[in-house]
Amino acid sequence: MTRRSVLRGPGVPGDFQRASPDDRHPGVGKDTVREPAASLYANSGDGPALVPIDIGHDTYTALVEPDTAFWSLVRKARLAEVLADPVFAGEVHEHGEAFAAEMDLLRFGLVASAVYFNPTERCNLNCTYCYLPEKTRRRGVRMSEARLFEALEILLEHFHHALPDEVRPQVIFHGAEPMHERRAIFAAMDHFADEIVFGVQTNGTLLDPEAIEFLASRRISVGLSLDGPLAEITDRTRHTHGGHGTHERVLGVLELLRGYEHHAVICTVTTENLAHLVGVVELLHGLEVPTCMLNPVRCTLPGGQAVRPPEDDLAGAYLAALERTEDLYRETGRKLVVANFANILLAVVAPTARRLMCDISPCGAGRCFFAVDAHGDLFPCSEFIGLSGFEGGNLFAGGLEGCFDTDAFRAVTARRVETIERCRACAIRHFCGAPCPAEAHELRGDLARRGAYCRFYEEQLRFALRLIADGREHAYLADGWDAAVSTVFAVAHP
Ligand code: SF4
Ligand code: SF4
Repeated sequence: MTRRSVLRGPGVPGDFQRASPDDRHPGVGKDTVREPAASLYANSGDGPALVPIDIGHDTYTALVEPDTAFWSLVRKARLAEVLADPVFAGEVHEHGEAFAAEMDLLRFGLVASAVYFNPTERCNLNCTYCYLPEKTRRRGVRMSEARLFEALEILLEHFHHALPDEVRPQVIFHGAEPMHERRAIFAAMDHFADEIVFGVQTNGTLLDPEAIEFLASRRISVGLSLDGPLAEITDRTRHTHGGHGTHERVLGVLELLRGYEHHAVICTVTTENLAHLVGVVELLHGLEVPTCMLNPVRCTLPGGQAVRPPEDDLAGAYLAALERTEDLYRETGRKLVVANFANILLAVVAPTARRLMCDISPCGAGRCFFAVDAHGDLFPCSEFIGLSGFEGGNLFAGGLEGCFDTDAFRAVTARRVETIERCRACAIRHFCGAPCPAEAHELRGDLARRGAYCRFYEEQLRFALRLIADGREHAYLADGWDAAVSTVFAVAHP
């Protein structure tokens, strides 16, 4: 089974495909070549709406059905012929309901199963772009071990009712800097080991060999932050309150983590490191980091807005770094997966297999996961911590009862890409999702506006489709990504 969705020219075996994970859709995972449906015309009457999109490829252009995120690659020379093909239009139409149902499930049918848990407001660092106010990071509250256990019991009680028995909820200890509460969170990781899947996102500076041994022996996912290939780059944005850099310390930790499969690095992309992203992926690949994220800086606070890279420059530097990961893979046989791009690629080849929930509308905030701060206050996402009007109650005063129905959560979960100017007419709206609501609120003053990186998403999607056209997409996806995926729609064109 191939995983292309490519319409090839005459004489070349071709196929359209739409893939879904078997485990979520039992019974629909078989290759299917159907008899043609009743003749229809594309773009009129009951026919599918198929929008051509130039992807910057010599041979192929894309056809996208925006409402269902169906897509196909078509030889440019055959575009008019394919659009006029009633058999093809009928096939797409026939599957449209299933595609729409799949998107609906992804957009509206999921329940929260993960929590970003901030056990402290304090952080030993003072990064330029942090989404938490500086005074909070310096003198904020810390959650006691007893309070942390109480919070996890409340969360578990909720998840026992909300999730199927076989699904364990995830709790990711998150910023400020969770390792300030190392004793408490390690105790919790052992106490709740059978009931919760834990992870930790840390700046890395407080990890020592003993902590790494603890986390690795329990197969806890560890995320670290590093912004450059050299100290002089990383330390421009990531430094202590006293101005000391973090690069060398984090490099030492990454050496200790070498060979551990459950670790990842976040590189926040700013004006300060934009020219060094290729160097970043080379460094991380050399350190045998399995996964990284090259995340454009979130513009929720002025600090982030001040180092926001220009969009065209961002796209160019990002794509160059992605292509370097492919070169490194071909040279060594070992991948460094850039998870935020892999998620866009998955959104194309297997929409329901995507894992990160920023690039879908509504985004995952407040519906797939939520955040708890060190007071026990509840927010749709960590990006909303510190923003007024987005607190949806308190875990210790009312629990999760009603929090998903508060105005704070509803404002975020009701945000639809179809109601955002420009986005509503954008053919790639279900590959992008118009992130991020927190960013839109702070940068544009309105949740119902676009976030900061429209063009960046456009270029990612075009690149993803070019990769598929050239059969290169596997180099960018984690090995085994398709183990539970199979084709639900295939049409061969002569
Ligand atoms: S942000 Fe841009 S690419 Fe994303 S849906 Fe809106 S218009 Fe489309
Ligand atoms: S888009 Fe923004 S608010 Fe939504 S999940 Fe991503 S970071 Fe959080």
